[in-house]
Amino acid sequence: SAPKPDRATPRVIAFANQKGGVGKTTTAINLATALAAQSRVLLIDLDPQGNASTGLGIDRSARGAGTYALMIEDKPLAEVLRPTPVPNLSLIPADGDLAGAEVELVAFDDRERRLRHILATAPELTQGFDYIFFDCPPSLGLLTLNALVAAHGVLVPLQTEFFALEGVSQITKTIDRVRRALNPALALDGIVLTMYDRRNNLSELVAQDVRGFFKDKVFETVIPRNVRISEAPSHGLPVSLYDARSPGAQAYASLAAEFRRREGSAA
Ligand code: ADP
Ligand code: MG
Repeated sequence: SAPKPDRATPRVIAFANQKGGVGKTTTAINLATALAAQSRVLLIDLDPQGNASTGLGIDRSARGAGTYALMIEDKPLAEVLRPTPVPNLSLIPADGDLAGAEVELVAFDDRERRLRHILATAPELTQGFDYIFFDCPPSLGLLTLNALVAAHGVLVPLQTEFFALEGVSQITKTIDRVRRALNPALALDGIVLTMYDRRNNLSELVAQDVRGFFKDKVFETVIPRNVRISEAPSHGLPVSLYDARSPGAQAYASLAAEFRRREGSAA
């Protein structure tokens, strides 16, 4: 049975980085899954590619109404929520038209605040969750902007590779701008180093570099490069349900524990 919510209102977090392939979707799915052992989590797929939806077993053909219907067609939140293979983890899938949303949103008066407004209009539903996660597309367009305006915090996954720091300045600048103009309370919740390769000295150098710059914003837990992590989505499962003993599953369990400590909600 579902745990009772351990907070009065959900904490809303955007997984964002304008670079593709850095581990946004992987981290959103697997952190959400690990947290769902104790909390109720909603993951909203904001990427037209729909990798979070596929990765949680909702095939393209079976997606029906999702984020596009919610944001553009005024479909009620209750009608787009889906269960996933993970107890206590719900999903709003990316539907086929979501790619068009970037353009169609421009016509709305509340184009940057749409998602925030939608979540605010269904408190009886959103309050049933402890966490709401947005899996953002690899761009800083209107979909990502909607996530940053609706969120309390941003989690930035960073691939542990040579140009890591270079890419991260764009997202931190965007966070600053959103803070000034649209969402003063937005926080950089943390940076997660992903695809860390122990056998490669470069990974350690990059990690030191990122920690030197972002200090304790960087999670102590690093996510290793692990083939089980990359295999799991093709089975429609988070890595912990695909191979619970894999280093990848264990890393995401550690990340969830550290995340809880940081959130100060060690429930
Ligand atoms: P993004 O959402 O930022 O585009 P993804 O989470 O989709 O990035 O990850 C990009 C690719 O890398 C995917 O194929 C994913 O399965 C793989 N991947 C992500 N994290 C790891 C990891 N720790 N080890 C191995 N493969 C990974
Ligand atoms: Mg993705």
